[in-house]
Amino acid sequence: MLGGAFLLGAAAHGFAQSAQAQPPAAAVAPTPSPPKEWTGESGSSGHPQMQASAIRAAAANFESCVEGMWPLAQKRNISRASFDKFTSGLTPELRIMDLIDAQPEFTKAFWDYLDILVSEARIAGGREILAKHKAVFDKVEKQYGVDRYIITAIWGVESNYGTLGGDRPVLRSTATLACVGRRQAYFRDEFLSALEILHRGDLKPEQLIGSWAGAFGPTQFMPTSFKRYAVDFDGDGRRDVVSSAADLIASTANNLKKDGWIPAETWGYEVVIPKGFNYLLADRSKQLTLTEWQGHGIKRAGGKAFPQLNEKAYLLVPAGNQGPGFLMLQNFRVIMKYNPAEAYALAIGYLADRLRGGEPFVQAWPRHEPVLTLAERRELQELLNRKGFDTGEPNGRLGPKSRAAVRDFQQSIGLVPDGFATATILARLRR
Ligand code: CA
Repeated sequence: MLGGAFLLGAAAHGFAQSAQAQPPAAAVAPTPSPPKEWTGESGSSGHPQMQASAIRAAAANFESCVEGMWPLAQKRNISRASFDKFTSGLTPELRIMDLIDAQPEFTKAFWDYLDILVSEARIAGGREILAKHKAVFDKVEKQYGVDRYIITAIWGVESNYGTLGGDRPVLRSTATLACVGRRQAYFRDEFLSALEILHRGDLKPEQLIGSWAGAFGPTQFMPTSFKRYAVDFDGDGRRDVVSSAADLIASTANNLKKDGWIPAETWGYEVVIPKGFNYLLADRSKQLTLTEWQGHGIKRAGGKAFPQLNEKAYLLVPAGNQGPGFLMLQNFRVIMKYNPAEAYALAIGYLADRLRGGEPFVQAWPRHEPVLTLAERRELQELLNRKGFDTGEPNGRLGPKSRAAVRDFQQSIGLVPDGFATATILARLRR
């Protein structure tokens, strides 16, 4: 559901550009610099609808594009009076065209995201939320089977407990994206769903404020996910996921429940990986039982036992053999549906553990490893491709395909094939 000023396009709920979407910046960075004008440049995606001339033409046609959505709105039982009221005077915000195609020069390391998102301040903030809304959490846990710590962690990671959620009117953002740029069909549904929210009176326009991609409220619902999951838990007739803690908590729980959350089960475990481990097993498609993982020499960190050995998990090693491993259970997949950025999803699980009273992760991260710049990530991909290790079109995003190519390259030169793209690997490729 994440909105915000995403680094590489929105990783919002239902808006994953790819399974390896980069974490958004909204809940990490303080308020970004004041809104700027559109640069007037073509988008870096190279998409025909992101050409500057196409953006200008679509912007000139904005009013008739919005009016053209009236029949669709009518089918959703939105009245003409509401349609006129909420769309009159609406103009496109073209600055969003820069954001949808933004390519960050620098990204943070995986561990930097965890440091920021699971800071002592966020843990303290979460404890306040838990205490303040204890009665609601008691009722919600009973009714939905989703524990209070994960909901609070989503609240904390997505918006720093409602303090960093974006400041753009959702109707304007989604109307812009529905009429201009490369994701118009997707955002038509978001725009119409936002209109439905306003027409029904669940939220007022001044509450429907969020990220450039249209995610709003402390747990960053997209308009379509609001439609699927929002509930009126305090019984006032409105599903107010922005200002009513009861509605917000229950709606987020309902979302996780409908996405397959297994009650009374955790998201996953930090694990210790033995020397000589076959890193080719560290792949989202390789689901083994905890018993089978133990057979490969994997142990739970901190010397604890796994509570249920028949559970299936996949292994994530964000920093290869230089950092901790994580065995991810079904509930982690549910968190990934909520936020498809791995660093964010892990931060949600980790923050929940810390709020529950759990200890920090045991193993160290390779903090000495510099983060590759965009140019370096592209160069890495080009060099891998040239050597016959296919990463796809070099785009600077190190996803599963690039990770697999790095592994194959590592294997070919006798290194541990852990898929971790470091400066050392780049240096070897340059030789
Ligand atoms: Ca309500």
